Amino acid sequence: MTEIQIAQSVTPKHIKEIAAKLAIPEEKLEYYGNDKAKLPLNIIDDEKVKTNNLILVTAITPTPPGEGKTTTSIGLVDALNILEKKAVAVIREPSLGPVFGIKGGAAGGGWSQVIPMVDINLHFTGDFHAIEKANNLLSALIENNIQSKSRSLGIDPRTVVWKRCMDMNDRGLRTIVAALGGKAGGVPRETGFNITAASEIMAILCLATDLEDLKEKCGTIYIGDTWQGKPVFAKDLNAEGAMAVLLKDAIKPNLVQTLEGNPAIIHGGPFANIAQGTNSIVATKMGMSLSDYTITEAGFGSDLGAEKFMNIKCRAAGISPKAVVLVATIRALKYHGGKSLKEITQEDVEALVKGLPNLDGHIASLKSFGIPIVISINAFQSDTEAEIQVLKDHCEKLGNPVALSYGWEKGGKGCLDLAEKVIKAADSCTSQFHPTYNLEDNVHNKMEKICQTIYGGEHVVLSDIARSQLVKYEVMGFGNLPICMAKTEKSFSDDQKRLGRPKNFDIHIREFEIAAGAGFIVPIAGNMLRMPGLPATPAAERITIDKNGVIEGLF
Ligand code: ADP
Ligand code: MG
Repeated sequence: MTEIQIAQSVTPKHIKEIAAKLAIPEEKLEYYGNDKAKLPLNIIDDEKVKTNNLILVTAITPTPPGEGKTTTSIGLVDALNILEKKAVAVIREPSLGPVFGIKGGAAGGGWSQVIPMVDINLHFTGDFHAIEKANNLLSALIENNIQSKSRSLGIDPRTVVWKRCMDMNDRGLRTIVAALGGKAGGVPRETGFNITAASEIMAILCLATDLEDLKEKCGTIYIGDTWQGKPVFAKDLNAEGAMAVLLKDAIKPNLVQTLEGNPAIIHGGPFANIAQGTNSIVATKMGMSLSDYTITEAGFGSDLGAEKFMNIKCRAAGISPKAVVLVATIRALKYHGGKSLKEITQEDVEALVKGLPNLDGHIASLKSFGIPIVISINAFQSDTEAEIQVLKDHCEKLGNPVALSYGWEKGGKGCLDLAEKVIKAADSCTSQFHPTYNLEDNVHNKMEKICQTIYGGEHVVLSDIARSQLVKYEVMGFGNLPICMAKTEKSFSDDQKRLGRPKNFDIHIREFEIAAGAGFIVPIAGNMLRMPGLPATPAAERITIDKNGVIEGLF
């Protein structure tokens, strides 16, 4: 069966039954149909957050389709529920970019999925659309002010860094000339779009603690300078109130269910390569308020997702995971050991052994956080017994608990071993995570620490443009912000061709973007693009619907 056939073979329970499992009073639910509901922020209970077992699921350096973090997260929640633990998944909302591009949906896989899968992968409860509108309202206000004679802030159009956004991989919008069409069309200038998942509004939504904080963060967005060189913020345009109004529902987390009828909260969807890579703080805290185990995922490999999860999100939220699950697959390790993507389903113990240093690299960087690690081998049907044995032996030699997980094939009962090991690891956790850098370190030092401790690289090298931008942002007082690195997910380095565990490399920063509202600095390493394009054969070409409304090709 395909993913979508499996997803549609299960009739979702009414969402009030799922809410009842978490003891959420029915009057708190804001229904979006029968199988989705938004949850009000007053469900968050800071006392419960303090004692909850937060579990982060991360992965080795992935192949393009992904190695199964979402699948593992959902399988783990179902397994914990089988073991009669109160567990909830808290994960990101999919972006339409990957859905129609190369990666496909992000609602898990096989028998470890969240449903209604089609809705979740498409418009869901409209959060992405609301984010896009809030973002583009600010663009419209900027354009209008540049045009205005009577109420002009004197914005120098050439300095405007605020971009529009759209949730689609449309390469043609990456760099554009806007405001053409004569005098009434505004002042022409070069600008561009970010994908919604990489927009600052997405980041703000995911870091805001409540509506008031969301509004304030929107107000502190830096948009450009006046002709006199004075910085201009969204609040100078009186933008934050209307932006927050557009986001009033989007800030509420969404409740859905796993195929086994266990609760999943899905909220916010920044990518981990070009943005901060984890769901909203409010969703995580809500999960932690309602359960004993909160299973969450951070995007791509641990060099991106886990690093930002700890240093940006957990720091901002004042939370700390009790265990980290590192998802590894035999196919990805063979890829790191030199096998081509087409060949990774063939048995090759030698390539697997050659690829193991990638796993070692992720364990080394995760160890720096001081939180117990459990390795989960996400079993594929192509794995052979010889390969599984080699990988298990290697993990045991490293001294980490390791579980073989069959969530994709069997759902929760395929992840019982993982669940038991996670419970044990969480029980053994005695400290909060150690951040990679201090906020007071200067920006260059913060990046160096990430480069050395997490990537295993040498130094961070800035382009001329990046150097002058950094001086400017430090003078503006943004030097104490955390770092949100934009780097390829395909390598520890900034060169996507360097697989495995590369050594002796520098990280090259081309330019910086500043997210003063979200509260982080975005160094852009190598050729990273914050508006991706579609691949040569986009998934969109395979997706269709018949006269009865049955959808095919979404996976
Ligand atoms: P990630 O969250 O790490 O990006 P996903 O859980 O979304 O990864 O899985 C990526 C893709 O791989 C999905 O299409 C999923 O169905 C598929 N997949 C995951 N685990 C398995 C498995 N064990 N066997 C076969 N396919 C799998
Ligand atoms: Mg995922």
